[in-house]
Amino acid sequence: MKQQILIIEDNEQNLYLVTFILEKYGYEVIQARNGKEGIETAKNIMPDMILLDIQLPVMDGYEVARELKKCMGKKNIPVIAITSYAMTGDREKALEAGCTDYITKPIDPDTFILSIQQHLADRFSEGE
Ligand code: MN
Repeated sequence: MKQQILIIEDNEQNLYLVTFILEKYGYEVIQARNGKEGIETAKNIMPDMILLDIQLPVMDGYEVARELKKCMGKKNIPVIAITSYAMTGDREKALEAGCTDYITKPIDPDTFILSIQQHLADRFSEGE
């Protein structure tokens, strides 16, 4: 069975790029275009990983991360923040909100896929 990755992202171009890369590497990608839809989908499908854009309309990524942690924190699903903010403070803010790690836009396909594979491997080795 393919591993499922949920991406919560409102930017069509980035959504397309990330989906393209992940599908190329054999993952099943589920898309959500806002935080509310993302949280509902996460609860329903319990994906293997969640990629979370921080700059989302209405409910920002930090808020989504906190909500995800609250409702499914025990599931140990990696939540990787994706943001164009290059400042270290934002990385800390994402981690504080419950994200596992942080990937910076613009996405570099090679380092991006390595990071995804590493987080999925880490999760697997933890017995999930
Ligand atoms: Mn965005």
